[in-house]
Amino acid sequence: MTTFDTLAVHAGRDGLTEQGIHAVPIDLSTTSPLTSVHEGGLAYEQMATGGVPLQGQSSVYQRLWNPTVARFEDGVAALEGAEHAVAFATGMAALSAVLLAMKSSGKGHVVAVRPLYGGTDHVLESGLLGTETTFATAEGVHAAIRPDTGLVVVETPANPSLELVDLARLVCDAGGVPVMVDNTFATPVLQRPLRHGAALVLHSATKFLGGHGDAMGGVVATNSEWASRLRRVRAVTGGILTPWPAYLLHRGLATLPIRVRAQQDTAHKVASALASHELVTKVYYPGLPECDQLGLVGTQMSGPGSLMAFDLASADHAERVPAAVRLMTHAVSLGGIDTLIQHPAGLTHRPVADHAKPHAWMLRLSIGLEDAADLVADLTQAIESTR
Ligand code: PLP
Repeated sequence: MTTFDTLAVHAGRDGLTEQGIHAVPIDLSTTSPLTSVHEGGLAYEQMATGGVPLQGQSSVYQRLWNPTVARFEDGVAALEGAEHAVAFATGMAALSAVLLAMKSSGKGHVVAVRPLYGGTDHVLESGLLGTETTFATAEGVHAAIRPDTGLVVVETPANPSLELVDLARLVCDAGGVPVMVDNTFATPVLQRPLRHGAALVLHSATKFLGGHGDAMGGVVATNSEWASRLRRVRAVTGGILTPWPAYLLHRGLATLPIRVRAQQDTAHKVASALASHELVTKVYYPGLPECDQLGLVGTQMSGPGSLMAFDLASADHAERVPAAVRLMTHAVSLGGIDTLIQHPAGLTHRPVADHAKPHAWMLRLSIGLEDAADLVADLTQAIESTR
């Protein structure tokens, strides 16, 4: 049996040795030579209807399929324990494809558990893609399901306040409606939602999977039926991941386990320091017992991860801290090698309706690979500067 850490290094590297190469090649071809109109047409048909090229078939055109992207997909599928993964240009492109694929199957209603990433909340609430959404608590999902519900959407841990949802229970409450879990915060290192009955796992690969803040991407790990629908949508909407970022994101998978665990160790220390600081009124970190009422850390998740949020006395205090940090960076995004701090209400969750928006005195931290003592010192001086 191949262990997770070994898969992280090797998945998606099939056939390299036979080709006499060691690093994953980047195939930048936008088009692929065709042997005949007939063969090319068959390959085109195969991909435009949700398939992948058969052995020896031309991949025709990069918007349909690309070998470097496929290697990244194979890597993610292996780590999530999925039959397939389908990669997109961004996490939002991946989510859009899931919603359009759901609609194409004849259902237009989504049940979504808040909180969610601001962009996700926005596309669901606005109905921009022709879907209708009922927002519910995890406990309210069952009651919110309708005959035309095609998807339940959830994040756990959720962005930005790290709420946890019991996935096995949610899947049960969904009663056969496919559940899509945004696993961006946990990564497959800490949580594999398909094991708990989810149908789809979505990542903003821009975050931990790539891990270095230099490549955007999105990916959905799922079964063959959904994968085929997603590829079909991807082929016509043009949201496919491109080869350069695919290479970087695939390379990121090899170090994903060690990064996630090291960042988590540091996050524990930073969360403890915040929890004992007199100017911090609340810390949201699943590693703190009060933030894991359902006991999901150690069961559903193997660890609490490296994201956290904290409250200060007022919105004014919260807005002054990111301006005062010196080591960490005031920036949105998360999951990279360096620590980022941001104000969710003002930035990542700006489009969320007022009644569902995170409160303005909250800040979110994504802990990187720096030394914990240096991060605590930086954060402490920034918080103290607001006195
Ligand atoms: N899901 C979560 C939890 C996120 O935090 C984000 C972005 O911050 C997304 C999805 C969207 O991903 P992307 O920015 O790659 O489109």
